[in-house]
Amino acid sequence: MNTYDIHIKNGEVIDGTGAPKFKSDIVVDKGKIIGVFPPNHDDVREKSEKHFLSSFKARNTINAEGKIISPGFIDVHTHDDHNVFSDPSMTCKISQGVTTCIVGNCGISLAPFSYKGDVPAPIALLGKSDNFKFPRVKDYVDEFNNNPSTVNVALLTGHSMLRVEAMKGEFDRPANSKEINQMIDNLMLAVEDGSIGMSTGLAYPAANAAPTNEIIELVKILPKMNGVFTTHMRNEAIDVIKSVKETIEICSSTKVRTIISHHKCAGRDNWGKSKETLKLINEAKQNNFLDLDCYPYTASSTMLLKSFVKRADKVLVTWSDNYPDVSGQDLNDLADNFGLTIDETIDKLYPAGAIYFQMGDDDLNRILKFDGSMVGSDGIPGDRHPHPRLWGTFPRVLGKYSREMKLFPLEEAVYKMTGKSASVFGLEKRGTINIGNFADLVIFNPDTVIDKASYQSPMLHADGIENVFVNGKMVWQNNLSTENRPGMFLEGKKFN
Ligand SMILES: [Zn+2]
Repeated sequence: MNTYDIHIKNGEVIDGTGAPKFKSDIVVDKGKIIGVFPPNHDDVREKSEKHFLSSFKARNTINAEGKIISPGFIDVHTHDDHNVFSDPSMTCKISQGVTTCIVGNCGISLAPFSYKGDVPAPIALLGKSDNFKFPRVKDYVDEFNNNPSTVNVALLTGHSMLRVEAMKGEFDRPANSKEINQMIDNLMLAVEDGSIGMSTGLAYPAANAAPTNEIIELVKILPKMNGVFTTHMRNEAIDVIKSVKETIEICSSTKVRTIISHHKCAGRDNWGKSKETLKLINEAKQNNFLDLDCYPYTASSTMLLKSFVKRADKVLVTWSDNYPDVSGQDLNDLADNFGLTIDETIDKLYPAGAIYFQMGDDDLNRILKFDGSMVGSDGIPGDRHPHPRLWGTFPRVLGKYSREMKLFPLEEAVYKMTGKSASVFGLEKRGTINIGNFADLVIFNPDTVIDKASYQSPMLHADGIENVFVNGKMVWQNNLSTENRPGMFLEGKKFN
């Protein structure tokens, strides 16, 4: 009799394709799914299923009665580039059922980067200059493979890193053709080394001066290298519609697979504009690969910047190098306490981070429900008082937006965080429950799953995530991470 690693019994499977759930056992061996038995099978198949299930012993049998078994969640939008090294347990993510993180978003990535001068915002979101020790993506890959985390990682190359390096810190102007050529060479090398594409952060000082054409010149090399393009757009507030049009121009003129990052309409004056942006995106989707990601909260978070503060209803400080104790406090209260204006307070605290309350629920619901949207946390792991999305995003979509608000069925919620994400980002043999796929799996309780992290207490793990497996190894059980570190570096598939 064969002995296999894991036998999950009595649960219901949501397979990550959006298809209705079905009862099935799951069998895992050597990191892969080797047994799953979808419905509608004929007698012959039923017999062989029975035979299969009675013909082996499992080292670990799990009773998933009343639970859902789904593919591990893919956090398509993270800033965990350094977090996977500083906290390889990645508890903030595996406690949500996340088994793969895509790092290097918003134009900033830990690799490739070897510039040693002062760096513009928001590069500091990835930590201190000591963290930037990977001149090439392959150096980052080697480090990860030598010190793997619980989760798998795929890396986008940050446009701002290419830019700051090629322009030797003179980021405040368009790049010239020599600099663009250097960026192209470095991007090609990065993708050859294993990066899955390029991200931009056009809203930020590091890249704001880059004209549309600079981006087109770079991303047009990606389709033939099977790379994707993700964009934190130039403007997510008053000019959000213009920015979506710019993104569509880049996408349609280069035919690159494009993902709009953390799509939102920021600032009360711009609430409701998602009707127009989603209409534009939907039209463009007819002839292009264009999708988006979003997180299920009406507050955003990034560095503390004056231009961002102006349009927010309320601002909480998440960290400050000069005044660590102010983390979690309201910026208005701090200004009162200091006896300073808001701008003076920002200058005093900077470099610092903040949470901005500035989006509307109607836009959020519309964007989350949209056919092209995936779930990405945009969590910022280094913050002393992080935005709760770091610990709560995925269970919140399952518990609040699917179960409680019924914005979409559970199968669709899971699809937005598994099958859809794997296919858009080209993560092969991930994101769906199929024989031969890697055994990245979550067992969760559909009746209780919910986020616990809040703006007041942001670092609480969710309820209802029972077991999490990465590459067939258990990484989360009994509300604790295990000692296993089975994460793999994912290079992404070659699309053609
Ligand atoms: Zn961003």
